[in-house]
Amino acid sequence: MTHTKDSNDAVIVRFAPSPTGFLHIGGARTALFNWLYAKAKGGKFVLRIEDTDRERNSEEAVSAILDGLRWLELDWDGEPVSQYARADRHREIAEELLASGNAYRCYLTQQELAAMREAAENEKRSFRLVSPWRDRDPSEAPPDTPFVIRLRAPNEGQTVINDHVQGEVTYANKELDDLIILRSDGSPTYNLAVVVDDHDMGITHVIRGVDHLTNAARQTQIYQLLGWPVPQWAHVPLIHGSDGAKLSKRHGALGAEAYREMGYLPVAMRNYLVRLGWSHGDDETFTTSQLIEWFDIDAINKAPARFDIQKLEAVNAHWIRNTDDEELFRRITDLLAYIPEGQQITKAFAAGADEKLRALLPAMKDRSKTLLDFVEGGRFLWADRPLVPDAKAAKLLDGPAREMLARLALHLKELTDWTAEPIEATIREFAESDGLKLGKVAQPLRAALTGTTVSPSIFDVMAALGKDETLARLQETAHSA
Ligand code: GLU
Repeated sequence: MTHTKDSNDAVIVRFAPSPTGFLHIGGARTALFNWLYAKAKGGKFVLRIEDTDRERNSEEAVSAILDGLRWLELDWDGEPVSQYARADRHREIAEELLASGNAYRCYLTQQELAAMREAAENEKRSFRLVSPWRDRDPSEAPPDTPFVIRLRAPNEGQTVINDHVQGEVTYANKELDDLIILRSDGSPTYNLAVVVDDHDMGITHVIRGVDHLTNAARQTQIYQLLGWPVPQWAHVPLIHGSDGAKLSKRHGALGAEAYREMGYLPVAMRNYLVRLGWSHGDDETFTTSQLIEWFDIDAINKAPARFDIQKLEAVNAHWIRNTDDEELFRRITDLLAYIPEGQQITKAFAAGADEKLRALLPAMKDRSKTLLDFVEGGRFLWADRPLVPDAKAAKLLDGPAREMLARLALHLKELTDWTAEPIEATIREFAESDGLKLGKVAQPLRAALTGTTVSPSIFDVMAALGKDETLARLQETAHSA
């Protein structure tokens, strides 16, 4: 009889990545769901690094995953546990299963196994391994022959998974063969390691990808034979691309670090990721406390979610508008460590360009979808003089325009209060007295000051550049041939 972890137990959930690469989008969502559930229930969120595959595993990948989690602000409790470091404990439990008769040594050779497979194929039956060693007397064991340890799994009846997302899922035990729990080299297998670790770590709820559903059945069998309570399960659907196909790089299935480099905010990332499989009415944006209040594993959808980078962009734009300027500025500065021209901009910042960007930031918020838009849009602020206008801007700076800008500069020189409002008043007055529409002044002015034809309000631009820099750029334009 299965006994399950009680819903009254204090919640302990875990994220258990295999460190073979970056924190990918599916892993980030699994981590987020676990983190939210822990927060929602006042429980704990712990990490286990499933580093048993020594060839594929790397220290670099472990740091990349932890880095990704830190960036997403998914803080964990305690130190991450290394699965590999616990191999002795896994072996101890395998021996215990052996001693209690719930596992047996299997001396089947590769050749014998292949022959059994072939026979099944020839007879067109589906192959399920029944090891002759399951019922053979261990005293018949061939001497000095390698063996594996297999679970003596039930042959009859069913293994039932009561899943918070998938509902009741039933496996006929005769379909599940006797799982190897210890390999011939003494190394524990994945399912044994996960059960022992989850048990020892006191995990109450296992929230992970639906690709592990069959493992849940196998793991349940191990729990039952050990007489341990089975954790509650929540197997979350996969993420598909916007076209419904399995998510791949083509769809934007990149590592968390790639989204950081593209200028997404962690809060936007969390908002977007949580919506991949979970919903709360039609809401797309949530504060962290709303998420913690509303999130529940029972409300996760069974159907695969679709990844849509445009939606992510829209959520990011929302959060850019709703993040305070100082925080945005700090995040832009952090981002500089990850982009190619970052060092150059950092130097310009140290030389005073930081104040210019700070000043222009409020005017840029509404037009920015990512933090990179601030970097891109702010480029003219720290550009070296003389500015080289792009082709469209150069076209606006013909002889009469340059002459007009030279005259405008004389008026601006007189201005003592160099803020957007008086700057605007001066320019309007100048346009009027020259019989020009405002745009006829503003467009060449923008071209001269930013080297482009698009920017936030030109008055904000001038205020951010400062009087000296504005006049210097105008002089250089006026005198360029
Ligand atoms: N290490 C497994 C993975 O990265 C997760 C196993 C689990 O959550 O039980 O897919």
